[in-house]
Parts: sequence; C-alpha cells; structure tokens
Amino acid sequence: MFIGHFAVGFAAKRVAPRASLGVLMAAPTLLDLLWPIFLALGWEQVRIDPGNTAVSPLDFVSYPISHSLLTACGWGALFALVYWLMTHYGRGAAVIALGVVSHWVLDFVTHRPDMPLYPGGSRVGLGLWNSIAGTLAVELAMYALGVWLYVSMTHARDRTGRLSLLAFLAVSLLLYMGAMFGGPPPNTRTLMMSAFTGWLVPFWAWWFDRHREVRAV
Ligand SMILES: [Zn+2]
Repeated sequence: MFIGHFAVGFAAKRVAPRASLGVLMAAPTLLDLLWPIFLALGWEQVRIDPGNTAVSPLDFVSYPISHSLLTACGWGALFALVYWLMTHYGRGAAVIALGVVSHWVLDFVTHRPDMPLYPGGSRVGLGLWNSIAGTLAVELAMYALGVWLYVSMTHARDRTGRLSLLAFLAVSLLLYMGAMFGGPPPNTRTLMMSAFTGWLVPFWAWWFDRHREVRAV
C-alpha cells in the first residue's frame, strides 16, 4: 500500500491532535522508511519482477526486519517509547505505536502472501494488489477520508499552511498514479533511491502542520 498509509497519518491527527502530523505520518510509513536502509545494507532483498501482482512489479524476496508482524510491533513500541520520553503525551505515543503496526496490517491486505509473521516465519497476504480497480478504490477512499478528517479539524494559519498542504496532496497523488501506471523501475538501485525519498514525507507533513492549527471544538 502507498497513500493508504498516508491516510492513517492524516486520520491520526483526529485522535492525537497535540502530536505533530510529522510524527503521525512517520509512524504508519516507518516500515517503508526503514526498508531502503536494510536493502542498502544487504540485509533485505527485493527483485524487479513485472507482473508479480497486477499492481506491483516487485518481488519482496526477503524483508523480515522491516516488514514482519513481530518486528513491526517492536518498531512501534520503540518509536512510541522514544516519543513518550520526549513529550510525555501518552495518547500520542499510543497512536504512534498503533500507526506503525497499521502498516503491517494494510500491507498484509494488499500484498500477495509475502508478509512474514516473524523473521523466518510463515508469510501471509490477502492480495488486494491482484486487482488494480480494487486497490485504487480502497486506497483512494481511504485517502479521501483521512485527508477530510485532517482538513476538517485544522485550519491554515497562513498561506504556507494552505498551499504546502495542497502541494503535498497533489504530489502524493501524482506519485501514486506514477507507481500504479508508470511501469517498473529500471533497476533495484533506482528503486532503493526512490524509496529513500519517502523520508521527505514526514518532514513535509511536519512543515505544513506547523502552519495550521487545530480548530477549537
Ligand atoms: Zn510496506
């Protein structure tokens, strides 16, 4: 899944309004932020395999550290603990832990059975990616809902708060369509480098969120 993870980050603001959207976006995307690091280290492997599913041209040969259910729970606990030590915002920490684990659950729904339960354990997946229409319908609906939840509970303090959010939405949708219909990456190195650009997402979200404020309810 791609922008479905962003949807979780946007929606999380509703539950933990005092947390920056930057960390709320980092949580549900964390596993995909860690993944290119482990690829670069050679600890995880991916293969370009057009037609692997209708949606994804990638064969996730091995990603037990970033994408197993057990390690996802560990990453979630670790991220939540660090956040809690820095902020003492318990609700924010809980939302972060759940956000990290939500990534595994959503990938479990989308991937073919390649998601390990624990490193070396059996691999599961419901395979929504076998259907382009199904993937688009689920993910775009999730994104619309997440964005609506965020926009309806915050308002822009200035032009940056409005325009930077609009640009984020436009760019994320363009990249999503590129990923859906743009064809496979030329090689794994390009894929890894483009995965690293995912690190911009939480920083961008932090930036426009700073220029918006939570509406008084
Ligand atoms: Zn993932």
